[in-house]
Amino acid sequence: MSDDRTTDGRATRPHVVVVGGGFAGIATMRALKDADVDITLVDRHVYNMFQPLMYQVATGGLNAGDVTYFLRSLRSKQSNADFRHGLLTTVRADERVITLRDGEEISYDALVLANGVNTSYFGTKGAYEFAYSMYSRSQALRIRDELFTQLENAAASVGSGEVRVVIVGGGSTGVEMAGALAELRDQALKDAYPEIDASSITITLVHRSGELLKPFAPRLRRYAAKVLRKRGVDLRLDTGVEEVTPDGVRTASGEFIPAELVVWATGVAAHAEVAGWGVPQTHGGRIQVNDDLTVKGLDRIFAAGDIAATDEALAQLAQPAIQGGEHIGEQIQRMLAGKPLKPFEYHDKGTMATVGTNAAVVQLPNGFTMTGPVAWLLWVFVHITSLLGNGNRLSTLTHFFVRYMWALRKRAIPIVGDVRPVRPNGDRAPEKWQTEKAE
Ligand SMILES: Cc1cc2nc3c(=O)[nH]c(=O)nc-3n(C[C@H](O)[C@H](O)[C@H](O)COP(=O)(O)OP(=O)(O)OC[C@H]3O[C@@H](n4cnc5c(N)ncnc54)[C@H](O)[C@@H]3O)c2cc1C
Repeated sequence: MSDDRTTDGRATRPHVVVVGGGFAGIATMRALKDADVDITLVDRHVYNMFQPLMYQVATGGLNAGDVTYFLRSLRSKQSNADFRHGLLTTVRADERVITLRDGEEISYDALVLANGVNTSYFGTKGAYEFAYSMYSRSQALRIRDELFTQLENAAASVGSGEVRVVIVGGGSTGVEMAGALAELRDQALKDAYPEIDASSITITLVHRSGELLKPFAPRLRRYAAKVLRKRGVDLRLDTGVEEVTPDGVRTASGEFIPAELVVWATGVAAHAEVAGWGVPQTHGGRIQVNDDLTVKGLDRIFAAGDIAATDEALAQLAQPAIQGGEHIGEQIQRMLAGKPLKPFEYHDKGTMATVGTNAAVVQLPNGFTMTGPVAWLLWVFVHITSLLGNGNRLSTLTHFFVRYMWALRKRAIPIVGDVRPVRPNGDRAPEKWQTEKAE
C-alpha cells in the first residue's frame, strides 16, 4: 500500500470509491471497515431505502423514516468512510477517475459500481405517464398520497365514487402490495370511511403469466393466489397490460379495467446513465462481471448487486447484493496486497414473501417450504433484523405491532397520506407537485 504524504502531512491511503449506498455498496464499505484505505461513498440520494418494506410505506403501515437510513451517519461507525451526494456520470477507467453530475472529478484506486436498477415499463404505452411505480421513497409516498386522495374523493362523491386499484405484476412486490391493500380496506378503512361502500374499494392484480411468484415452488404460488382471492383480491392471470390510461388499463385482449390508481410492480432495467460509463452491458443493461466480480475488460473496477450480471445470472435480490458487496470488500484488500482475486460463491439462504397478516411463503435452498403464520413470523423477524439502525428496527416493530396485533387491529389507524388541502374556491384540482412524476 502507498504511504505517501500530502502537503499538510496527512498519510494518503488507497482510495476506494463506492457508487451506490444500497445493500451491495454498504456491504462493501462494512467489509473494508478495518482496512487501511479511505472510502468515499457516492449516492444520488442522501439515504438508504430498505426496498423490501417500501410497500408498507405505500399502504400506510410504516413511515418513510422507519425504513430510511441517513448515509452520512455511516461515518460515525466507520472512521475511514466519507460520503458525497452526487450522481456518477462518467468513468475514465484508463485514468482511474470518475466524474459526477456537478462536474467534480474523483480519482480512485478501486471503484465499486453498486448503483442498483430502476423500473422498466417495457415500452408499455402510457405506463410511465399514468402508472405509479415503486422504486424510491418519493414514489412510495406518492402512492400513499394518491390512495388517500382517491379515498377522500370517493367519500365526497367526487368522480366515480370508487377507489379501484389495479396492480400490474404478480411478483413479490405486486403480491405484497395487493395483500396489504386488501387488509387496509377490510380493517382500517371500514371505520375511517363509512361513507364508502366496501364494494367500491377494489384491488385487482393483473399478471402476464398463469401463476404468481414465479421464483417460488408451485405449492407456494398456489398458496399465495388462494390467500389473495380469499382476501378479496381480483386476480387476472394470463393477462398482459398493453396500455395504461388516466382511467385504467387496457389488456392485450382489449378489455379495459377501470382504475383510479394503477401501481406498476413489474420489470427492472439499468439506469440510463450506465450506458455512458463505457462498461460492458448485457440483458436489461446489467454490467457484465467476471467470476471475481471485476467488470469484464476493466482494471480495478468491480460491480455487485442488481446492476451486476455474472455468467450464472443471480436473482436481483438483497442477499446476492449483500454477499457480492462483502466479497468485493475482501477482493479489494487482496488486490491492494498484490494477491490474486478469488471467485465469488453465492450461498443461497432461501427466499420469502408475505401475502398479509399470518400469511407468508418461505422457501429454503434444500427444497423445504413453509406457509402460514409461522412463515409470516419468520418474515417479520428477518425483515426487522435486516433493517439498518436500531431506531428503525424499533419504530418498525412498533408500527407492525399496531398494524398486526389482533387486539389493536380493529382500531389500527393507517399512517395517513398527504391529501391536498381544500382551498377557498373549493377547487379540488391537484396541486402542481401532485401531478409531477416522482423519480
Ligand atoms: C419494492 C421492492 C421490494 C423488494 N422486496 C424484496 C424482498 O422482499 N426481498 C429481497 O431480497 N429483495 C427485494 N427487493 C430487491 C432488493 O431491494 C434489491 O435486490 C436490492 O436493493 C439490490 O441492492 P443494490 O445494492 O444492488 O441496489 P439498491 O439497493 O437499489 O441501491 C442502489 C443505490 O445506488 C444509488 N444510485 C443509483 N444510481 C446512481 C448513480 N448514477 N450515482 C450515484 N448513486 C446512484 C441509489 O440511490 C441507491 O441508493 C425489492 C425491491 C423493490 C424495488
